[in-house]
Amino acid sequence: MFASTFCCWAFQIYVSFQQIPTNPAGLIEYRAHPFWIQKYCPFHEHDNTPRCCSCERMEPRDTRYVSLNDGRRLCLECLDTAVMDTYECQPLYLDIQEFYEGLNMKVEQQVPLLWVERQALNEAREGEKNGHYHMPETRGLCLSEEQTISTVRQTRNGAGKRNVNMVTEPFKLSRRCEVTAILILYGLPRLLTGSILAHEMMHAWLRLKGTSIFHDTCHVKWAL
Ligand SMILES: [Zn+2]
Ligand SMILES: [Zn+2]
Repeated sequence: MFASTFCCWAFQIYVSFQQIPTNPAGLIEYRAHPFWIQKYCPFHEHDNTPRCCSCERMEPRDTRYVSLNDGRRLCLECLDTAVMDTYECQPLYLDIQEFYEGLNMKVEQQVPLLWVERQALNEAREGEKNGHYHMPETRGLCLSEEQTISTVRQTRNGAGKRNVNMVTEPFKLSRRCEVTAILILYGLPRLLTGSILAHEMMHAWLRLKGTSIFHDTCHVKWAL
């Protein structure tokens, strides 16, 4: 292609630099995601072009991302392996538990693993005595207070990931040990879910072993 054009990821068409308004310094700018290297016109950052909540890629005009109940959007590649609730996560949970067992760091207690929407995760974070009010949005939490959590569970509505219905149900936590539950943001791909879960299981292990190192400083943050 000519040097004066580039393919905008959001439009899925070649855009000439003349079509992009210049910035205050009189220069033409385009943006590119640092990992995916997908170029796009700067105004897509403000024109409500959706981004995938997991991989951050913009929704191209000829593709429909999936909407999650809490307002997040998920691209179809991320949806492919998305973990929607605690039942779907069991094999992954057992894999991580086995990994930690090999390190002699298994969580012996029965800690509820709950899948939640974004809002419920933020509310639970604020309900903790040592809550992190100033922290950016999280994707996982290890709780130590008694709270009632709004959890999500999927009900099948035909075959395939795109036909999943989510229902929310309250779950009352009771405190039997230092950790009352692990909360995970639902709908993220298996690899990302696994890394969040492994992180929170490490928090749980540390807390159950009576140490709070990392507890206040370490969190799974949004990558944005
Ligand atoms: Zn564009
Ligand atoms: Zn994605």
